[in-house]
Amino acid sequence: MEDKIERSEEEWKKVLTPEEYHVLREKGTEPPGSGELYHNTENGMYVCRACGAELFSSGAKYDSGSGWPSFWQAVDPSKITKKTDMSLGMARTEIMCARCGSHLGHVFDDGPKDKTGQRFCVNSMSLKFKKS
Ligand code: FE
Repeated sequence: MEDKIERSEEEWKKVLTPEEYHVLREKGTEPPGSGELYHNTENGMYVCRACGAELFSSGAKYDSGSGWPSFWQAVDPSKITKKTDMSLGMARTEIMCARCGSHLGHVFDDGPKDKTGQRFCVNSMSLKFKKS
């Protein structure tokens, strides 16, 4: 993306709540089932809570049973940065907002077989919902 946002951690601390900062900037994970958007089925756009970039559309959201909002694809692959995450003693693929570098969650390959087969597992805390 061309309009990348770069802020110091001090600046992020000023614009995010402590809970948002923990997930978005310290790669935290909200407890499963706790997020406000997990059961949201309204039509609209899920944007990055830190920078507002459009990341996932409601049309790609599905109930994975995981406890976190799940999507089978991003609005555009270029909106998402992927990185290997070796924490917890296993290889996972972390996903971040390509525009501001904030942590979103992880992507797994156990998504819907009739779609992309991918599961973008995203913290509610990393997203803001814009109803269409
Ligand atoms: Fe962002």
